[in-house]
Amino acid sequence: MTEQQQQRDDFACAVDLSASSLPESSLNSEVFTTTISSPEPESGFAGFGFSEALLRTLEVKGYSEPSPIQKAAFPELMLGRDLVGQAQTGTGKTAAFALPLLERLESGQKTPQALVLAPTRELAMQVAESFKAYSAGHPHLKVLAVYGGTDFRSQISALRRGVDVVVGTPGRVMDHMRQGTLDTSGLRTLVLDEADEMLRMGFIDDVEWILDQLPEKRQVVLFSATMPPEIRRLSKRYLKDPAEVTIRTKDQEGKRIRQRSITVPMPHKLEALQRVLDACGGEGVIIFARTKAITLNVAENLEAGGHQVAVLNGDVPQNQRERTVERLRSGSVDILVATDVAARGLDVERIGLVINYDMPFDSEAYVHRIGRTGRAGRTGEAVLFVTPRERRFIRNLERATGQPIESMEVPGNTAINQGRLDRLRKRLSEAAQTQRPDADEAALLQELMQRVATELELSPEQLAMAALSLAIGNDALLRKGDDDWIKNTRRNDRDRNSGDRHERRERPARAPEENMQRYRVEVGHRDRVKPGNLVGAIAGETGLQGRMIGRIQIFDNYSLVDLPKGMPEEVFNSLRSLKVMSRELQISKAS
Ligand code: AMP
Repeated sequence: MTEQQQQRDDFACAVDLSASSLPESSLNSEVFTTTISSPEPESGFAGFGFSEALLRTLEVKGYSEPSPIQKAAFPELMLGRDLVGQAQTGTGKTAAFALPLLERLESGQKTPQALVLAPTRELAMQVAESFKAYSAGHPHLKVLAVYGGTDFRSQISALRRGVDVVVGTPGRVMDHMRQGTLDTSGLRTLVLDEADEMLRMGFIDDVEWILDQLPEKRQVVLFSATMPPEIRRLSKRYLKDPAEVTIRTKDQEGKRIRQRSITVPMPHKLEALQRVLDACGGEGVIIFARTKAITLNVAENLEAGGHQVAVLNGDVPQNQRERTVERLRSGSVDILVATDVAARGLDVERIGLVINYDMPFDSEAYVHRIGRTGRAGRTGEAVLFVTPRERRFIRNLERATGQPIESMEVPGNTAINQGRLDRLRKRLSEAAQTQRPDADEAALLQELMQRVATELELSPEQLAMAALSLAIGNDALLRKGDDDWIKNTRRNDRDRNSGDRHERRERPARAPEENMQRYRVEVGHRDRVKPGNLVGAIAGETGLQGRMIGRIQIFDNYSLVDLPKGMPEEVFNSLRSLKVMSRELQISKAS
C-alpha cells in the first residue's frame, strides 16, 4: 500500500468516526468505501479561496474532499476569525487550521507570523511535519518545531535565520520568549492544539502567560477534544467572538452511552464481574475480553454462577456465530462473552450493557466496543474494568469518545439487591400486562388458583405472594453478608502498594478487623519478602482464597498477617514449617 493510500484509508475511518454514527461505523466497510472511492472530478477544496499551489499539493497528497471539521473551519479561518473547535485527533483537525493559516501568511516578514502550541513533543513534531507537507508549494516557507529535551542552541540559530511558523510545547516556547529568542511582535495567529490536554498536563498557566504577551490584534484558534470549564473560561477570556465548530453527531452518540470504570485488581475481576452483572445486568450484555482463553474462562465462571452465557471468539465457526448472535437478539441468552474481532459489526438492539472485562488494545477498539450498546436511539451503559496500573489509560479513552468516564465502585449488596428487585418488578409488570397465548390454558390456571384459594382460605395477596415465591425459586432473592471483601481487597491493595514505606518506619499497626486474627511470621525485609509471596504461599498451603487474607505488614525481621479467625490446628501447624523465601514462617499468634 502506498503512503497516500494509507493516509486515505486512515482518514476514511477518521471521517467516519466523527461525522456519522460514531462507534460501529468506524469499521463499517460501506462508509469506508464510499469515503475513499467517490470520484470527484473537481477538488472538493476549491471554493475556499485556496491558492492553486495549495490545491495542487492537496491533490498530490490524495485529499479529494475536506472533512466535516475542515468544511466548517476553512471559511471562518480564511476570514481571520477566532475559532473554538471541538474535535478529536483523526478528524483532520490539523489541516483544518494549518491550510488557512498557511494561505494567510504574508511574504517578506522577518519574525514568526504563526505560533502553534501543542501539549507534547510528539504532537509538536507531527504538526510541524504536516505544515511542511502542506507548504510543499511554497519552498521558501520556514517551519520550526521547538520543544524541551533538545538542543536550545540549534533552535536559537534557526529562529535567528527566520521562521514563519513555530510549533512548540508551552514550556519551551515560553523559555524562548523570555530570553528574547522568539520574537512574537509580528505574530498574527496563535493556535492552541489539544487545549484540554495542555490543561491536564498543567501547562495552562504557561499558555495564559504566552497569550498575555501576544500582540493585541491576533487571531486565536483553539482546538480541544473535550471542553472542561477551564478551557471554556480560557476561550471566553482570550478569544473574540469566536466561531464554534463541534462535530455534533459524535457528541450526541457518545452521550447516549453512560461510561463508567471500576478499578479492580486482577485476582478480583471475576467476582467483581459477577457483582456488576448482578447489579446492572438485565437486558442483553456483551462482555469483551482480550483473548479467546479469557472468553472461555469468564463464560465458565458465569455459567457456574447460574448465568446463561454464549461465547463469540475466533474459534467459533461462522455459521455458529450467526446462530449465537440470533440467540442474543431473541433473548434466549442474555450474556455474550466476545473478543474484539469476533464482535465486529455486531448490531443487536437489546444490548443495554457493555462490559470491558479487559482493557481494549487501543481507543479505537474501545469506541467500537461501547458502540455495541446505545443502538437504535436507546440509551446504553458501558463499564470498563481497569487494574490500578491501567488507570492512566482512561484519559486516552475519554479523549477518543469526547466524554467523561465516571468511576464507580464494585457494587455492594445494597446495589445488587436493588438490581434484583428492579428486575423482578419489571418481570412482574411485564407478566401482568401480557396475556397467555393459549386462552384455554389461561382459563384452567384461573380455575386452579381459585381452587387453591378456597381450599386454603387465602386472600388475593397471599395467593399472589405464593405465586411470586414460586417464580423466584428456593434461593434467597436478596444477598447478605460477604460484602466486606470489597473494602478489604481495596485496603489490602493499598497496603500492599505502600507496604514497604509503612513498615520501614515500624508504625504501630491498626487492630485487625473483628473477624480476623493477627499472626506473626518470621520472614521480613531482610529476606526480601513481598506481600505477594506471603499471600501466594499461605493461600497455596491453606486453600484460603487470596481475598480472605487480610492486612499484611512487613518489618525488617518479621511480618504480620491477618487471617480469618478460627484457623484449624492442623492448618496452623502446616503453616509453621512452611518456607517462604527459604525461611520457615514459624507462625505464631501476634499479641
Ligand atoms: P488529524 O486529525 O489532523 O490528525 O488528521 C488525520 C489524518 O487525516 C492525517 O493522516 C491527515 O493527513 C489526514 N487528512 C486530513 N485531512 C484530510 C482530507 N481532507 N482528506 C484525506 N486525508 C486527510
